[in-house]
Amino acid sequence: MKKLVDFPYAQVLVLGLAKSGTAATKLLLDSGVRVRVNDLKTSETDAVVTELRALGADVIVGSHPLTVLDGIDLVVKNPGIPYENEVIQRAQNQSIPVITEIELAGQLADGAIIGVTGSNGKTTTTTLIYEMLEHSNQPVKVAGNIGIVATETARSLRNNEQMVLELSSFQLMGIDKFRPKIAVLLNIFEAHLDYHKTFANYKEAKCNIFANQLADDYLVYNADDPTISVAVEAAKSMKVPFSVSQKIETGAWIDEEYVYFKSERIIALEEIVLVGEHNVENILAAISAAKLSGATNEGIRKVLTTFTGVRHRLQYIDTIHNRLFYNDSKATNILATQKALSSFEQPTILLAGGLDRGNGFDELIPYLNHVKALVVFGETAPKLRSMAEKAGITHVITAERVQDAVLKAYDFSAEGDVILLSPACASWDQYKTFEERGDMFIQAVHTIK
Ligand code: ADP
Repeated sequence: MKKLVDFPYAQVLVLGLAKSGTAATKLLLDSGVRVRVNDLKTSETDAVVTELRALGADVIVGSHPLTVLDGIDLVVKNPGIPYENEVIQRAQNQSIPVITEIELAGQLADGAIIGVTGSNGKTTTTTLIYEMLEHSNQPVKVAGNIGIVATETARSLRNNEQMVLELSSFQLMGIDKFRPKIAVLLNIFEAHLDYHKTFANYKEAKCNIFANQLADDYLVYNADDPTISVAVEAAKSMKVPFSVSQKIETGAWIDEEYVYFKSERIIALEEIVLVGEHNVENILAAISAAKLSGATNEGIRKVLTTFTGVRHRLQYIDTIHNRLFYNDSKATNILATQKALSSFEQPTILLAGGLDRGNGFDELIPYLNHVKALVVFGETAPKLRSMAEKAGITHVITAERVQDAVLKAYDFSAEGDVILLSPACASWDQYKTFEERGDMFIQAVHTIK
């Protein structure tokens, strides 16, 4: 297990436990740093409290007293804790640096880091890059916002093993020297303004991904995104643009038939299994990063001809009696469902519904031309029904839950149809998570078989 070296801080406050805080605490203790841990929600009786105390940490749970800052010269905060938090405010007033564990992970990795950020497409692109390198026999690990604690992975890296890191804007706000060899910037939409307050702040957090890059690093960026095209002018690294709308011979691009990296033809568009126009952008970004970090064309092709999508994100499940089943349970808002619907031309049966957040669904109407039926469920079932009727769809079926929605959709379907779960709503009215909802969909599809 690796340790931090040349670490200039003597006493660190880890704010917020969870998986990443626990891993950061262990890393710091192993590196000979004194650690105080503070978490609001953890209770005295939790096993992690006993464990960290036994390792030598000073653990304070159940409240955030300002005295937790006494003697502290660095704060490592959980990315979810807002900067308005009183302890963070006080730390900043006292000029105590505040970082996230991504900064620590960056200090441990001696192989190259490939960092991926953007408002949308992070998990898909991160997974693609990782798979492309794996299939090219390049030593590589994946971590970060994808759900794998970055410091833990960074500690286990072998010499010169590369690490692909999915990075959220929350994580990127808390970096200091973090410098990926390859930074990938996918897109910047208005998002998370509750946390970042202004679009400028949010953009700045995303652009942190290249802030410390130097002339021998690479910045892969979306040349079709106007915000990004302007922002990257400030980068010192070598710029590698990708575009779905123009031929850019310094990066990745497409024509009617093929995908190219620089002047090299990589794969025919029709050989790619992953559906969705937005995924073409993710693929171009992934090819660029993978090529720059040693992937072979063969490895890249192997992934693109077999990869059916990240679980719950427009994921191809199966074809049963010539009906194609797709699970897009991650589509918890209208925009995501619009994207999913635009990905198909075949007659489609849409399964939608879930938590009612008070919004209407009329913005789906322009995307329903090829939709022959809706199966609706959950709190929003009545709203979705009236939207569908307004759109002139005559077949609207109500189901209890996703599981029987699958069966009802199958009963109504014909050969050649797409049966698509893309709920346009959060899952919490009936399921713990969108993952659980998607798993129920997959199970129900398997029972048809
Ligand atoms: P993230 O990790 O950033 O949330 P995912 O790869 O999990 O992104 O994709 C989540 C959803 O975001 C997808 O189901 C799709 O609706 C949308 N999406 C993915 N990639 C893009 C993209 N390049 N541009 C716009 N929307 C996208």
